[in-house]
Amino acid sequence: MIIMGNLMGKLIIANWKMNLPVGSMAGITSFAEKFSPAQKKLLVVAPPYPFLTHVRATGFHTAAQDVSSNEKGAFTGDVSAELLMQAGVNYCIVGHSERRQNHNEGHELLAQKIIQLLNHHITPVFCVGEHADEHASKKTNDVLSAQLHALDNFKDKEIIIAYEPVWAIGTGLNAGPDHIKTVHHYIKQRLGNDTHVLYGGSVNAGNAAAILALREVDGLLIGGASLKPDEMVKILAMV
Ligand code: PEP
Repeated sequence: MIIMGNLMGKLIIANWKMNLPVGSMAGITSFAEKFSPAQKKLLVVAPPYPFLTHVRATGFHTAAQDVSSNEKGAFTGDVSAELLMQAGVNYCIVGHSERRQNHNEGHELLAQKIIQLLNHHITPVFCVGEHADEHASKKTNDVLSAQLHALDNFKDKEIIIAYEPVWAIGTGLNAGPDHIKTVHHYIKQRLGNDTHVLYGGSVNAGNAAAILALREVDGLLIGGASLKPDEMVKILAMV
C-alpha cells in the first residue's frame, strides 16, 4: 500500500474536527508556517470542508472528515466523493465515533460511503473503537469484530483502519501500549497483516513516542493536539 503522507513510514493525520488553529482562516497560514516543506509532506490534515483546498495549497496532503453515501444530485449539505476528488483530497475519515453517535451512522451507510470513496480513488480511514463500559467489561474485540463487518465486501481494497477507543477521544486518557498492541494485533489478524492500523485517542507530543514505537501501530489520528503546530512538529520528528 502506498501511504502518501510518509512513504513507507508512519502516517500522521490531523483531525481538526469543526475547528481551525486559533479559530480562524488566518490560523491555517500561521499553522503552515511552522512546518518545513519536508515536514508538510509527512502530515495529512483533515480540516472542515470549506478549507480543504486552502490547506492543500499550503503544502499538506488532505483528508476529508466525512463523505456523502450518494453519487450526486439533490442532497443539500452533503459533499460527494467526486467533489472531494476534484478538491485533491487523498484520504477520508469514515465512521468516526462522533458521527456514529451524533448522526446514527451504521454499517450499511458506512459501506456505501466506502464504495463512493474507492470509486473515486480516495483512501478511506475507517474508525473503530469501543465505549468505556465495553472496555471495562472486556468486550473490545466483540465490538470491533461487529464494526469490521462493514468491510466484509472490501477484501483486498486499500482501506486504513483507525483504532480509536471512544473513552480515549478528547478525554486525556490515552490507551496504554499493551492495550493498543493487543487490539492492533487483533485487527491485523482479522483483516490481514499488511493492513495499516492507526491509533487515535488523546495523543500528544508527550505520549506519541511510546505509541509510535509499537510495531503494530502504523500511524496516528490526532484530534485536539493537532491544532497546535508546536505539538505536531514534535510528533513529526518521531516518525
Ligand atoms: C479524534 O477525534 O479522532 C481524536 C483522536 O481526538 P483526540 O486526539 O482529541 O482524542
